[in-house]
Amino acid sequence: MADAILELEHLSKRYGDYLAVDDLSMVVPQGAVYGLLGPNGAGKTTTIRMIMRIIAPDSGEVLLDGRPVDDDRRRLIGYLPEERGLYRKMKVLEHLVYLGTIRGVSPGESRKRATAWLERLELADWSAHKVEDLSKGMQQKLQLIGTLLHRPRLLILDEPFSGLDPINTRTLKDLLLQMAADGVTIVLSTHVLPQVDELCTHICLINRARAILAGTLDEIRAAYGGNVWRVHTELAPETVGALPGVVSVKRFADELLVELDGGAGPRDLLRELVHRGDIDSFTRFTPDLENIFIRAVEEDRSNVG
Ligand code: ATP
Repeated sequence: MADAILELEHLSKRYGDYLAVDDLSMVVPQGAVYGLLGPNGAGKTTTIRMIMRIIAPDSGEVLLDGRPVDDDRRRLIGYLPEERGLYRKMKVLEHLVYLGTIRGVSPGESRKRATAWLERLELADWSAHKVEDLSKGMQQKLQLIGTLLHRPRLLILDEPFSGLDPINTRTLKDLLLQMAADGVTIVLSTHVLPQVDELCTHICLINRARAILAGTLDEIRAAYGGNVWRVHTELAPETVGALPGVVSVKRFADELLVELDGGAGPRDLLRELVHRGDIDSFTRFTPDLENIFIRAVEEDRSNVG
């Protein structure tokens, strides 16, 4: 596995009697796009605020490159908070220059980088406007640029897609994929699961303050997919259902979903199928993330003692 850039070790945070984060551990490998998922109130924002040292954990530790985060090393991170905070009366480009300089970039370099980003995110015409003239989605793009000006190695984005229309959602997704390809590690919290499917290499699902599922998306999909195969065929479900090792057959759009018992392998099934008729396609069934999310949360709920 790639080296970890960020490690959370047994983090806990209590608000009065309420345990908002409970013994949460998480490892973010270098270069990952790491999705922090979970229902409302699960503890995602609290976790991110502890990473950013905005609030202190009651116990546990956050390590960046294997060492505790201090003010200096926090500069390696670009952080987009859940609540957006911009000075409404400032002009767009000036605001970005200000954000760049407070993160240690010279005014000249901040201006250069900000101008390029405004161009890239189609906000160049707004450079001399006041922030308050921009729509909510545009302000969000502006704030995102502010988090990128110091070229962080780790981006932490709290609900970056909220309030964006489909076109800007696409733009942001492409931008994040490009940054990931350039080696930037990204941690993002979101409820928008199709985005996670397209973007994330790893996820951690938080429910009721605890991590209930974590790993690479591929591992998690395989674990939840079971021994189930999608078959596009003219064969009748009854014919397929009678084959050795087949536990159940369901129709799924114009395909059959064939569940095999634990010991049966796909090769034997495929051989039997080909023997009996035409097979147009044969692939492993991978459940979508929404199903996994709902199943994991329901299983966790039914585990409540
Ligand atoms: P959402 O998806 O709705 O943004 P979240 O997973 O980010 O939720 P958090 O904002 O971390 O959840 O909140 C976790 C829990 O802690 C919630 O029940 C919330 O009400 C509580 N909480 C958060 N901040 C505070 C605070 N400052 N004082 C008291 N309780 C808080």
